[in-house]
Amino acid sequence: MRILGIETSCDDTGISVYDSIEGILFNKVFSQFNSYNSYGGIVPELASRKHLEVLSKLIQNSFEEFNLDKNSINAIAYTAGPGLTGSLLIGASLAVALAFSLNIPTISVNHMEGHLLTPMLEDKKPKFPFIGLLVSGGHTQLINARGIGEYELLGESLDDAAGEVFDKVAKLLGLKYPGGSNLSKLAESGVRKNFCFPKPMINQKNLNFSFSGLKTFVSNVIKKEKFDFQTRANIAKEFEHVIVEILVEKSKRALEKLNYTTLVVSGGVSINKVLRKKLNNMMNIRKGKVFYSRPELCSDNGVMIAYVGMLRFRKFKSFDLRILVHPRWSITELKSI
Ligand code: ATP
Ligand code: FE
Repeated sequence: MRILGIETSCDDTGISVYDSIEGILFNKVFSQFNSYNSYGGIVPELASRKHLEVLSKLIQNSFEEFNLDKNSINAIAYTAGPGLTGSLLIGASLAVALAFSLNIPTISVNHMEGHLLTPMLEDKKPKFPFIGLLVSGGHTQLINARGIGEYELLGESLDDAAGEVFDKVAKLLGLKYPGGSNLSKLAESGVRKNFCFPKPMINQKNLNFSFSGLKTFVSNVIKKEKFDFQTRANIAKEFEHVIVEILVEKSKRALEKLNYTTLVVSGGVSINKVLRKKLNNMMNIRKGKVFYSRPELCSDNGVMIAYVGMLRFRKFKSFDLRILVHPRWSITELKSI
């Protein structure tokens, strides 16, 4: 079967067609990040307007470019949450309207389940049960994943998400939006000396995180220090080191707690090379296995929505023409299949 996936939860317009036999037929992402440099972050109203402007053209052009007939699609999966209400509504409305015109069902997909299961698209696939480390712009969660839709939240950030803190510190360091990847690049020129940042909650046994204190600490350091390239690179390096240490330590504890040997890491922050290196080392020592997606599938895309849509198709397809989104929708509220 063939599914069109539509992702519009935040500022990226992502579409993809996934075929259960042929795999990913195309993956197109229109990124709005250039629109937000003067604002320093996403403006929800502008994001939804951009989706409206871009989405239908992107679908039309991609089907033409890849010589695909819309009638070959069996269902349309769209992100129904969590995310920005206006952005979600654009994707949901277009999905429902297009599905109605093609007389095919729609499947509403949870964005975080999309991130969580994307590593299953790689040749090296994880098997349940596993610990999921979801690290994105809006979430930092440790999940006990027992099967599709069987998710238990083990711990999460009590304040800012890891990606959000990367972005905020990057902005303070004078880097352009989106900050995470730019900060990581700057950190490559840094050395770990002169700075020592706190690791909030690292000594607490629970599996929660807190990053806002770290952000404030780094912000105060940046205000006091010189703003030359090397100092900024050293700050970036220490900040990346600390955040990675926290993520690795809490993932290790989650594995220990449940006695699991498999870790699956997803979301935009999982692109980070230092994080991957340290997690690989930790898993080597534990003789466990760690799984990631290829970098272009770590941040928002339509492939993850089409793929999870396919997994959920048989049970949760719907000819319902109501346009329903859930801006707050925890992964633990999903049904199993
Ligand atoms: P959510 O999925 O929680 O709704 P989101 O969709 O905005 O949030 P993603 O698209 O999964 O998040 O990831 C984007 C985040 O990943 C941004 O915060 C970005 O800074 C971060 N990121 C991307 N590349 C890197 C990197 N190399 N190192 C650290 N962070 C990175
Ligand atoms: Fe995301």
